[in-house]
Amino acid sequence: MPELPEVETVVRDLRAHGLPGSVIRSVAVRWPRTIAELPPDAFCRALAGKTITDVSRRAKFIVVNLDSGDRLLIHLRMTGKLRFAAPGERPGPHDHVSLHLTDGRELIFNDTRKFGRFRLTQPGDDPFAALGPEPLEADFTPTLFKQRLKGKTRQIKPLLLDQTTVAGLGNIYVDEALWQARIHPERRADTLTAAEIRRLHAAIRTVLQRAIDNAGTTLGSGEANFYSVAGRRGRNADALKVFRRDGMPCPRCGTVIDRIVVAQRGTHFCPRCQKCP
Ligand SMILES: [Zn+2]
Repeated sequence: MPELPEVETVVRDLRAHGLPGSVIRSVAVRWPRTIAELPPDAFCRALAGKTITDVSRRAKFIVVNLDSGDRLLIHLRMTGKLRFAAPGERPGPHDHVSLHLTDGRELIFNDTRKFGRFRLTQPGDDPFAALGPEPLEADFTPTLFKQRLKGKTRQIKPLLLDQTTVAGLGNIYVDEALWQARIHPERRADTLTAAEIRRLHAAIRTVLQRAIDNAGTTLGSGEANFYSVAGRRGRNADALKVFRRDGMPCPRCGTVIDRIVVAQRGTHFCPRCQKCP
């Protein structure tokens, strides 16, 4: 599933392709459930004729800002992908939404697993009210992070996956950040020392920024893998230290990396660097 670095990569690609400034001529919805809340015909009507003023990101949402003041939120979930149609290309079976632009281009949303969602929000809506802070913004300080964890008795891994704690993290980068900070994924959040919280704060920022610099993580070659707008693979897989590296040596101490299940998620860690609580 795309996490913050992969969504950020898609947003940067959409900007590089000149999506801001483009005008939507019409919209085609081929799988109605992709559109949250609105009936598809109302959704298409609301977008037709609107100019895209900017494309940005909040947590794992792609935010398409329109001149009407509405915002189109796109969540890729498991397998959602955006691409521009090649000349003469016809939509395939998993191409659920098309934005036809007045310059003749077609932005296609492809989603084999069909969990991805488009949602149109109106001015005044605050769809992000429940989300935690953006981990790469300057206001995400160690002090703020400590406040977010305060009094939390949950295990640190599921707490970090919870988007209300910190926005944008998923399974890959939580495992990587916990390894970097030398914290076991099953530690109860309220047992973390001030030094551990500072290390974890720094680790979250480091692993996310590195992954953005590498244009995201693409593992293997299956359809569920991450590909950015131009079908480009991310280069971050080689930078991963523990994620899906069970059975291989820890890059820090050489101990064999272990895999356990925490909160129903496959979890990778070094049993020596990340001591069991
Ligand atoms: Zn180790």
